[in-house]
Amino acid sequence: NSLELRRHSSPDDITAAEFIQIRYTDVPGRFLAKYVFSGNRNLREYFKSGVGLDGSSVRGFATIDESDLLLVPDRSTLRKVPLPEFNVATVIADVYRGFGKGRLPRDPRHVSQCVEERLAYDGLACQVGPEVECFIFDDIVFGGGQEAKIVSVEDEGHSKYPLRRKGGYDAPPFQDSLLEFRFEVAEMLEKYYSIKVTNLNHEVASSGQIEINFMHDTLTKAADNVQVYKDVVRSVAKKHDKVANFMPKPIFDENDRRAGDNGSGMHVSVSLWTKSPAAGQDSRNIFYDSADEYAEFSQAGRYFVGGLLSHSASLAALAAPTVNSYYRMVPGFEAPVYAAWSRGNRSAIIRVPVNERGSSGSKRIEFRAPDPSANPYLAFSAIVSAGLDGIKKKMDPGDPINENIYRMSDSQRSSLGIKPLPGSLKDSLDALKSDSGYLKSCFSDELLETYLALKEKEVAEAGDGSKEQQFRMYYDV
Ligand code: GLU
Ligand code: MG
Ligand code: MG
Repeated sequence: NSLELRRHSSPDDITAAEFIQIRYTDVPGRFLAKYVFSGNRNLREYFKSGVGLDGSSVRGFATIDESDLLLVPDRSTLRKVPLPEFNVATVIADVYRGFGKGRLPRDPRHVSQCVEERLAYDGLACQVGPEVECFIFDDIVFGGGQEAKIVSVEDEGHSKYPLRRKGGYDAPPFQDSLLEFRFEVAEMLEKYYSIKVTNLNHEVASSGQIEINFMHDTLTKAADNVQVYKDVVRSVAKKHDKVANFMPKPIFDENDRRAGDNGSGMHVSVSLWTKSPAAGQDSRNIFYDSADEYAEFSQAGRYFVGGLLSHSASLAALAAPTVNSYYRMVPGFEAPVYAAWSRGNRSAIIRVPVNERGSSGSKRIEFRAPDPSANPYLAFSAIVSAGLDGIKKKMDPGDPINENIYRMSDSQRSSLGIKPLPGSLKDSLDALKSDSGYLKSCFSDELLETYLALKEKEVAEAGDGSKEQQFRMYYDV
């Protein structure tokens, strides 16, 4: 039959793929997949005309008057799916409104592309480097009236070589149960998705926490990479009968926020570059300044930080956007709690890492508030918009703070002008409502309203924030 023929004639020829997986992201950040059989139409037709989508079934896409949407694949993202039995192509799509009405303003990818266009208009481009942490559990049991329970082979009672609480960082191989798991993820990212892996470590928490980093990229591509990365981690975990968990704080004690283990962050590094029309050699990192003694960090970089600090409360609504995010942002777990900046201080929300002197290309800021429950398109767009607002308005970030902020007294902090980050999703949503002007050029009003409505519903659903309910709401973020 024709399927067999196609399969065996060209198993690696992506243009002869039998099935096409079309990916797109809803407003909260879930990476959805639609499938079409390409048997009766060729790939080129799908690229041109798009594939229909029922917007009323996608969180945040539904509008009252029009639910007929179109997914138009972005050819540059076309890859082969690692399924040896079938020839399946995967591609990320942009969302359009039907009948030639143009882009859907609520499509998260539209927002990030808009920010990139704005940058280009100013002769700039940005590089974004996300560092996604997560847990690989052997099991999570919740629901059915049972108390939520996490099983990790690395914990006491399950392993002959248990890790100590908070003792997982760079664990030696005999205690590291996820060594081969990380190698497998890295190989799949490289081989199938051309995502360039840099380092792949065991993280601090003891129950199977990992961090796999990949190369920075332009804004939209970096967000695409996060979505694909999470997907690959999940599929490898599933294959090994494990479960990947990207909740910001899966291991917590409902009654004692200072107990539990480290949470999972998604630190975001950003650098800004001048982009000449010819690009290439003329491109210069505007965060670098060799004359600055503190961190070889430029005035433009300091204003960018000023923008992030001044908008930090409202940014949290997009970068740390779940009720569970605020279980992570407590003192003592390397997660940020205060709006301050510094070189190597992990208790501050922004670091300017100091590498070897004179390395102008790698000068960047690390924003530590985001976590993996964020929609990467929206979070990265908001971060860059806040920084640009700082540059435009010359916002002074104040002096860097080099002491452990967790250990300062309230009066010490307030005399240094250090403000705490919002303590709950509700507080950050309130901040977003009163401070969204810096987002307006790419975040439409209808997107912001939809986003706030979805998130306020989550706050209401979370109730008293029990562990059970947190898992029910967020186990698949
Ligand atoms: N896991 C920490 C967090 O919640 C970060 C650890 C690190 O500095 O890499 O953000
Ligand atoms: Mg880390
Ligand atoms: Mg980091």
